Amino acid sequence: MTTRVAIVTGANKGIGFAIVQSLCKQFDGDVILTGRSEERCQVAVAQLQKEGLSPKYYTLDIDDLGSIVKLKDFIKENYGGIDILVNNAGISNKVGTIGERATTTCRTNYFGTLNVCNTLFPLLKPHARVVNVSSMASQEAISKCSEEMRSKFKQPNITMDELTALIQQFIDAAQNDDHEKQGFFFKPYGMSKLGVTVMTFIQQRELNSDPREDIVVNACCPGYVATDMTLHKGPKTITEGADTPVYLALLSPGTTSPKGDFVSDRTIQNW
Ligand code: NDP
Repeated sequence: MTTRVAIVTGANKGIGFAIVQSLCKQFDGDVILTGRSEERCQVAVAQLQKEGLSPKYYTLDIDDLGSIVKLKDFIKENYGGIDILVNNAGISNKVGTIGERATTTCRTNYFGTLNVCNTLFPLLKPHARVVNVSSMASQEAISKCSEEMRSKFKQPNITMDELTALIQQFIDAAQNDDHEKQGFFFKPYGMSKLGVTVMTFIQQRELNSDPREDIVVNACCPGYVATDMTLHKGPKTITEGADTPVYLALLSPGTTSPKGDFVSDRTIQNW
């Protein structure tokens, strides 16, 4: 029998690190800590080894399609498929013009996550669990788009191509400082995470008619967590932030809810 495997992106520090730590304790299989710097991955793995845990690691930059494909080949050769995928890697870029921030933030949070999913989803095994770490900021963004824009994102049958076109429209508009006039929320991070949450709904809809049974994908907010991203201001520890993502990663076989939902504090949130 092949070894089961869980992959966590952006896991050399912060919430991703705590997700790996928790999965190492609870998941019956290999846990792969991924990060874009080999050195930072090794340091993180060494820290977990001191706690008696044994994660593997693999370098992955989600902005680089070649890097994603290398991971896919590695997983295919060594595990044959994927049991758990946690898309945790993300940025909140606060420097540069609004156009620059929209471009870089959406590049990683939306396009990077989408590329990881498009590349790795063919390897998902029946009963696989996918967790897309989004944010409450996605709820703020959808609520603060214009009514017309909101209805575009909320279209029940929106396709991935339509969603990608809307995110690209946001980036192009932000480069001309025209995004608010076009009905988008003004914060790039919130818009990028809006993309991640709606991406999740579309993915579950598509996976519902996939021949592989019982694949469940959910988006979540980890809460406001003290990490480098928040300048260590959030009240939650990384272990507390990892709770909901890990709960979703370990949903039992046949789970019908949460499924294709946006979840925070282990609770489905209204969208
Ligand atoms: P950190 O900044 O502490 O960690 C982010 C991780 O993502 C790092 O490992 C970073 O790697 C990695 N990363 C960034 N860009 C890439 C990339 N292109 N390819 C691969 N890895 C990358 O942030 P958090 O732990 O706080 O955030 C984790 C997730 O949780 C993010 O998606 C974030 O948006 C989300 N979130 C966080 C909240 C919070 O309060 N902290 C609230 C809501 C959502 P490196 O070390 O190389 O930079």
